[in-house]
Parts: sequence; structure tokens; C-alpha cells
Amino acid sequence: MNFSVREAVRQELEQRRSRARIQQAERVEEIARKIPQVIDLRKELALTSVRLSKLVLTGGGKLEENLEKLRAANLQMQAMERELLRKGGYPEDYLELHYTCPRCQDSGFTGGKPCACYRQLEREWLLKRLGESAALELRDFDSFRLGYYDQQPDPSAGGVSPREHMGQVYRYCVQYAENFSGTGKGLFFCGPTGLGKTHLSLAIAKRVIERGYDVLYGSAQGFLSAVEEERFRRERSQQTMQQMVEADLLILDDLGAEFSTAFGQSAIYELLNTRRKPLILSSNLTTQELQDKYGQRVVSRLFAQCVYLRFLGKDIRQQLG
Ligand SMILES: [Zn+2]
Repeated sequence: MNFSVREAVRQELEQRRSRARIQQAERVEEIARKIPQVIDLRKELALTSVRLSKLVLTGGGKLEENLEKLRAANLQMQAMERELLRKGGYPEDYLELHYTCPRCQDSGFTGGKPCACYRQLEREWLLKRLGESAALELRDFDSFRLGYYDQQPDPSAGGVSPREHMGQVYRYCVQYAENFSGTGKGLFFCGPTGLGKTHLSLAIAKRVIERGYDVLYGSAQGFLSAVEEERFRRERSQQTMQQMVEADLLILDDLGAEFSTAFGQSAIYELLNTRRKPLILSSNLTTQELQDKYGQRVVSRLFAQCVYLRFLGKDIRQQLG
């Protein structure tokens, strides 16, 4: 994975700053054509600091007085500049730098802390990345349809109907997303293909991002091959595993679909062992199949760290088609 949200936000801010400078230069050119006196005044004002240091060096007894004169002349020139612009039909600050976010001047930080615009950009990029990695339109809770689930009681689920059961699962997921705080247990979605596991994980991801958390979403297979490639190339950064460990919420879709290797097993175990924040895993495999594939220690870690949610019903996609 070559994407890093932090890097994308940094580049976006850099673009904003350079756009502000380019647009200012264009406005200066425009004014140079229409009201050249304004530009003369600005050139004059730009010499202030040179004059100031000259005064300080040669000031002697009259330093105070001369500084006062310089200050007064400056203020007068600034007033003239504003006046000329106003008469020409321009706003007074027309030639200043106009930042997208005046608060942090598009640096992304105020007082050493991330600015509101930084958090906003981060959310936008996370959602964008989620949309790309999901390779389908973003799903949310509103578009989840319980009507697709059977109302007939299911004996394997203690006589509860899939619709009733999935209603509970759905409400649990909504609560989970609303209360997510980056700590506590994760979720383990289990059940055959086509029962809404991906839909609900994307819905949780979207809501949790909107609430200001960093979410990493992808297929278990995709992540594992990225980790393996980095190890194989002996990359020092091990970026993928690091991102997987650090994200506020990690969502691994379709665990068990990947080709089983000793590397995959140990990478999953390492992840479960190092990650301190919640993760959401989904799998089409039964507990027994998972145990056969990853071993007892992975499965018991999984159940210790995640709330088990079973998905019931008939394949929704077949009903849609
Ligand atoms: Zn800002």
C-alpha cells in the first residue's frame, strides 16, 4: 500500500499555499495594469525594513523621532493603498494572500495542534480511500435492508428468524459505530457469503470516520500480500503492518479467502498480538475451518478480542439478481 493519508493531507495543504501565492501574484499583475500607483506604494512599503535597519545603525540622538516619522509615513502609504483600491472598486485586502483557512494560513496547525481544516481534510481523504479500497459505492446504515432476510424461524439459531436476528446485529453495529472510542473490543462477523457482512463493515467504517477516527479498510488477502511483499523485499519501514497496528479501527474483510501459508498465519497472529485498538474481521469460514487454517492460538485470540456476530439468512445478492 503506497497511500498514506497524512502524506495526502500534507500535499493538499502545500497545494493550497502555493495556489494562494499564485493567485496573489495574478492579482498584483492585474492591479499593476489598472492602478500602477498602488504597486509603486507597495514597492515603497517593501523597503521599510531596509530603512528601519539603516535608522537603527545610524540613528544617534534622533532615533526615536526618526522611527516615529517612518511609522507615520508607512501608515499613510498603507491608507493610500487601501483608498486607491477602494476607489478602483476592489476590496481593501485585494493584494494580500488569501488562504483557504485563514486560521492556520493553510499550514494545518495552530499552536502546535492540528487545525480544524486538517481534521476535515483527513476525514475527506479517509473516506476517499475507503471508497477506493472497497471498490464499490460506500455503503451506509440507511441503505441496509432487513427486508431481504427471511422471517421464517431458523432452528439452527434457536428458533429466531434471520430477520429478527439480523435486526439485532444491525442495531448492535449502529451502536458500535456511534459509541466507538478507539478502545475496547472489536467485532467478528461470521457467516456465508452475501449476508451483508461487507455492507455493515463499510457502514461502520463510514460512520467512525465521520466521527473523526482513522479507519483502515481492506481485504485480509490484500493486506497480507502487502505485508509479505515488504518483508520479502526487506523494506525497513514495514509500512503496511505498522499502519494496520496503528489505525484507530482496522477492518479486514474476508479472512480465510486467501491462500493459506505459514507466513499468513504468523502475520495474523502478530497483528492480533501487537494491535491494542479494536479491529473488525469478517469471514465466510466456520470456527472449525478457521481453526484448521490458522491454528488454535489465532482463533482464541480472535475470540478474546472480538465480539462474535453471526450472520444468518439466504444470499441477498441472489435475491437481488
Ligand atoms: Zn486551518
